[in-house]
Amino acid sequence: MPSLIYSLLFMGAIKSLAVSTLEYFFPNLCPCCDKSVVDLDAVCTNCWSKLNFISAPFCKTCGRQLPYVVEEESSCLACIKDPPEYDVARFSFQFDRNSKKLIHYFKYYDKTRLASVFARILYNMYGKLIDEYDVLIPVPMHRFKRMLRFYNQSLVLAQQLSKISGKKVLPDVLNKVRWTKSQAMLSQKERKQNVNGSFDIDYPEKIQGKKVILIDDVSTTRSTVNACAKELRAYAAKVFVLCIAAT
Ligand SMILES: [Zn+2]
Ligand SMILES: [Zn+2]
Repeated sequence: MPSLIYSLLFMGAIKSLAVSTLEYFFPNLCPCCDKSVVDLDAVCTNCWSKLNFISAPFCKTCGRQLPYVVEEESSCLACIKDPPEYDVARFSFQFDRNSKKLIHYFKYYDKTRLASVFARILYNMYGKLIDEYDVLIPVPMHRFKRMLRFYNQSLVLAQQLSKISGKKVLPDVLNKVRWTKSQAMLSQKERKQNVNGSFDIDYPEKIQGKKVILIDDVSTTRSTVNACAKELRAYAAKVFVLCIAAT
């Protein structure tokens, strides 16, 4: 028996030696500041502390931070004036100067490390609401774009959230059927026109009467999630938009 313990300890030591050697040659670098990070949380503590996480009071509809409490459980002026196509939206932190680099890294370079961290954050913040819904639907990418990008970060995020919440991911229901210009350089009105009618539903029976969570990485003007929600609402009972960051 002791020989088994010794060999397990020996294997453990070899393993930790291998990990530290790997870390020495290929250190995990914080995607925001390039400082080496040893923990599995991907981003250094300093950069985490700079992120502007959403806290109460926030709009009960779109989830945007409100400067002060107007009324308990109230919506912001923008949601009252022009109600969105979704029932509710939540995001974890502001898309701003501090989070831009992190989101860019997640979109273009990271496949799973950050996705699992983001999924944990989202579930910690909004787990109670997530549990009220049935299925997860990622914002789709046009197949040509996916070929260029290699992966759809919203799908990766949905898969990680599925592991934590136990909700099923439906990647084939919502489709991007029309190639659209990049939203970055367009005005709010142009963004709306750009994405309108660019999404389509396949297998509507899979979401008929269901409460669906639409997963996106970052939402700036909400025109993409609004266009998706419009399609989903034709069949789903409720649409909840969940993003990592939003403006
Ligand atoms: Zn950092
Ligand atoms: Zn609002």
